[in-house]
Amino acid sequence: MKRLRGGTAALHYAVVLGLLLVCGSVARPQNEDFSKVEIKVTKVSGNIYMLEGEGGNIAASVGDDGIVIVDDQYAPLVDKIQAALKNLKITDKPVRFVINTHYHGDHTGGNAPFASSGSTVIAQDNVRKRLETGGVAGNGGSLKFEQTPAPKSALPVITFEHDVTVHLNGEDIRALHFPAGHTDGDAIIFFPKNNVVHMGDDFVRYGFPFIDVTSGGSVQGMISAMEKVSAQLPPDVKVIPGHGGLSNLDDVRAFVKMLKETSAVVQKAIDEHKTVEQMKQEKILAPWAKWSTDKFINAGQFIETLYNSLTGSKGEFLKHN
Ligand SMILES: [Zn+2]
Repeated sequence: MKRLRGGTAALHYAVVLGLLLVCGSVARPQNEDFSKVEIKVTKVSGNIYMLEGEGGNIAASVGDDGIVIVDDQYAPLVDKIQAALKNLKITDKPVRFVINTHYHGDHTGGNAPFASSGSTVIAQDNVRKRLETGGVAGNGGSLKFEQTPAPKSALPVITFEHDVTVHLNGEDIRALHFPAGHTDGDAIIFFPKNNVVHMGDDFVRYGFPFIDVTSGGSVQGMISAMEKVSAQLPPDVKVIPGHGGLSNLDDVRAFVKMLKETSAVVQKAIDEHKTVEQMKQEKILAPWAKWSTDKFINAGQFIETLYNSLTGSKGEFLKHN
């Protein structure tokens, strides 16, 4: 991990390490040992599977036409992911398409090896841009994660602005862009025939969510995306979160309720001209303590996130060469 500009690198590094332990991360030391990671495969519905290893959850459509996956974790895990898919003994055909839900390294780290084995990587326009340039992921406050530029081989070769559909295995697999949620390049992926949706990191199960305000994310966009999606989906839809176990719409609604309530409390404090420090001292998010985790996003960091989202502040400007 590169040293972060602007000081307190040790603190940031500690935060990153904590984040790695919980849910994978947006940035990870390159020499991390992945040898002990096992890929757990869960049948979700019909021919859709969920794969958990390290990093973001993977959805896979596996059938006669071949395989489509949503997100691909980390490069050192690609052989294990390929083996787990082959082990289903459903098809000998390859992973033909990889769809990225957003640009963070724990969801796109496998792009280059999948591409070199013949997969076509698809993502929203801003995912390609951010992978290409690198930059900083963060909440505009104390959370900052350097994102190094991805190699050319890792860049999506098909990009879309609003939506794209992959017609494979008898299903219209649709990726739909929702602006300014977890990042500015998020896509939510629908498997309508199988009644499954992959939410990317617009919906996670590890507690208060990381919202990448520095990369164009906002709590307002996350709420809006989740409300629009939940309103359209059948009540019994199976929901694959960006991180955490298989979920349902009630879980999504509880998450949205928390986002709205905590946003309202922070907005009220902003209207009363309180500073972030005062909000932290007054512990204004204490009623939502069960969502706070010292290992990743604690209440203080979520106050920063909400404050910067609601005031449109992206934090200090960091220039990258
Ligand atoms: Zn993410």
